[in-house]
Amino acid sequence: MDEEAAPKRDKNGPKFHCLPHSTQGSARMGTRKKVHTFVRVKPTDDFAHEMIKYGDDNKSIDIHLKKDTRRGVVNNQQTDWSFKLDGVLHNASQDLVYETVAKDVVAQALDGYNGTIMCYGQTGAGKTYTMTGTTENYKHRGILPRALQQGETNRIIASHTMNKNSSRSHCIFTIYVEVHSRTLSDEKYITSKINLVDLAGSERLGKSGSEGRVLKEATYINKSLSFLEQAIIALGDQKREHVPFRQCKLTHTLKDSLGGNCNMVLLTNIYGEAAQLEETLSSLRFASRMKLVTTEPAINEKYDAERMVKNLEKELALLKQELAIHDSLANRTLVNYDPMDEIQIAEINSQVRRYLEGTLDEIDIINLRQIQEVFNQFRVVLSQQEQEVESALRRKYTLIDKNDFAAISAVQKAGLVDVDGHLVGEPDGQGFGLGVTPFSAKPGKKSKSKKTFKEQLSSSARKEGASSPVSGKELDVSTSKTQLTPSSKEGDVKDMTIRERETSSTEPLPSDSPKEELRPPRPSTPPPKPVAFEDFKNERGSEINRIFKENKSILNERRKRASETTQRINAIKREMDVTKEALNFQKSLREKQGEYENKGLMIIDEEEFLLILKLKDLKKQYRTEYQDLRDLRAEIQYCQHLVDQCRHRLLTEFDIWYNESFFIPEDLQVALKPGGSIRPGMVPVSRIMSLGEDAQDKFSQLQQVLLPEGPDSVAFYNAKVKTEQKHNYLKTMMGLQQAHRK
Ligand code: ADP
Ligand code: MG
Repeated sequence: MDEEAAPKRDKNGPKFHCLPHSTQGSARMGTRKKVHTFVRVKPTDDFAHEMIKYGDDNKSIDIHLKKDTRRGVVNNQQTDWSFKLDGVLHNASQDLVYETVAKDVVAQALDGYNGTIMCYGQTGAGKTYTMTGTTENYKHRGILPRALQQGETNRIIASHTMNKNSSRSHCIFTIYVEVHSRTLSDEKYITSKINLVDLAGSERLGKSGSEGRVLKEATYINKSLSFLEQAIIALGDQKREHVPFRQCKLTHTLKDSLGGNCNMVLLTNIYGEAAQLEETLSSLRFASRMKLVTTEPAINEKYDAERMVKNLEKELALLKQELAIHDSLANRTLVNYDPMDEIQIAEINSQVRRYLEGTLDEIDIINLRQIQEVFNQFRVVLSQQEQEVESALRRKYTLIDKNDFAAISAVQKAGLVDVDGHLVGEPDGQGFGLGVTPFSAKPGKKSKSKKTFKEQLSSSARKEGASSPVSGKELDVSTSKTQLTPSSKEGDVKDMTIRERETSSTEPLPSDSPKEELRPPRPSTPPPKPVAFEDFKNERGSEINRIFKENKSILNERRKRASETTQRINAIKREMDVTKEALNFQKSLREKQGEYENKGLMIIDEEEFLLILKLKDLKKQYRTEYQDLRDLRAEIQYCQHLVDQCRHRLLTEFDIWYNESFFIPEDLQVALKPGGSIRPGMVPVSRIMSLGEDAQDKFSQLQQVLLPEGPDSVAFYNAKVKTEQKHNYLKTMMGLQQAHRK
């Protein structure tokens, strides 16, 4: 009657298979292995045959729940479940249980694999009976005494006492195994442990007072079991990195015995009676969750350090004897193989020195240790000589780090040069050559000799090749040479802007020379470009430099913000992934258990609902941040463009300034001064360079060319000059170099 009143669920709902069918050692991840799950049914006279059915292979349990019409509630809750397991033990003897559940785990522990066997189930279902058994009857002894016995035949020495534990507490037995090889020389040994866990009763609250609700979400009496379950869920989720082991003592203790490198077995003890069906279902669900957990069993190999040292000592002694025999056979007596003392090392050092000087032709080879010491002493001597060379240089020259532009510039400004007038520097193909302005070129101290730049070039060119000591002039020229190489110009420019950022904050503005009118008399040879650039930024380029720096700092700030936003977006994305993962897990759990579907409406539990809300919120955050990032990117692009423009202008103007300041004969400068006949940027470099020996003469020609028809033409010439400038510059500079080489 009852069955007729309630429609059979089978028609409209599927049967639930908790897991895929594979059982033994899933090959999904190489040596990964699934937790083996077994169910032991406590013998009873009142077995619920109508409700509990075993699969033919004894590897599954089907549960059928009759509709309870007496409660007057029409409910559409699930009534059929199917659980896949590794074995069902019904009316099984203790012997059979041990054979099925524990024997392999113990055998493997003796080979170095950790093992964990756990009994789970409601109070009275037979956990303690399974794990410990009865003391009075040998036949009824449980897994623990049998494991010890199995180990004993393999020479484990152990003893145990049976202890009765309360159904409210967990009981963990740990058997430590250490296996040494019978051959004493083997320093390798293996260790392992077997955890036998008799858990507290798994019954849940909420069973009483469940009138009208056949299946109610209930909480454990024992909170730690709930934590255990959380850890199991996390362990079953391959993609989850964090497993909450620290929530309670139980999980903390079992940390390295759950999952990980263990062989793991779960034995679920259930009643076969109808009255306990709700708890039975809950226990079977735990088992199916546990089946998701995989482990990766591995041997715990250790090395006995003491034994290893003893073996090595033995071998060493043997080899020394061997060597002595070898030496005497080869007629080499008195060879010492011990570590060298100080005197021997000093002797080798002296040999090496004499060898380097050429007073010793060769160094005799004695043994390996001596060869190694010879090499060692080579290194010692080499580094000593390096130091000597450097200090010799320091005594003679002022050495400045060629990357330290601040120092160079400071030296330049202070007019510091070596007492002897020696200047140190070297051209460098990639960056700037380094040079210090010679005495004669020091600002403020105008050179008496009125040599033009060209004269200087030719005079220094004449000197080239002679073995005269290095002079400042020569160095300056060679410096210019490097700077003027077209290919290096671009590199120079970039370099300068970088340096500028580093040094500008520490370098004070010279108070006496920012205005053009107050510009100090120019040196007779052009200063190195980096130095000149510093001056330029304080003079004519100060305004554009300020704007350049301002744009740059805005750009940097936007970049920083973009990077921060990106980081936030990534963090949100990660959290979204984790939440999705958790949600999927919840969903799959629900599907596996076939939990409640109500007239086509899905009923989800609170946890899943919260996850959905969280995901929604995260998506919103993600969108907002992403929009911000897009805006920032647009701004960055814009700012970058501004910065590039500024840089380009700064450098172009610098080039003009540099040429006009250092390559136009001094007399011509007058015309460039405010109120003079030529405005800055007006004179094309080609014109300047075509100035011959008689500069004054050429200048008049130049004026004729440049200013033929009065002030109106000035704007035109300005524009023309600017476009020509870039092309002419390189051409001129190359021409200049060639002239210098002749
Ligand atoms: P739990 O530890 O799960 O609370 P116990 O192991 O203490 O349950 O079992 C409760 C009682 O049932 C004990 O008296 C035990 O001897 C008995 N018992 C449990 N399982 C079996 C079994 N498979 N065969 C015979 N007796 C059993
Ligand atoms: Mg017990």
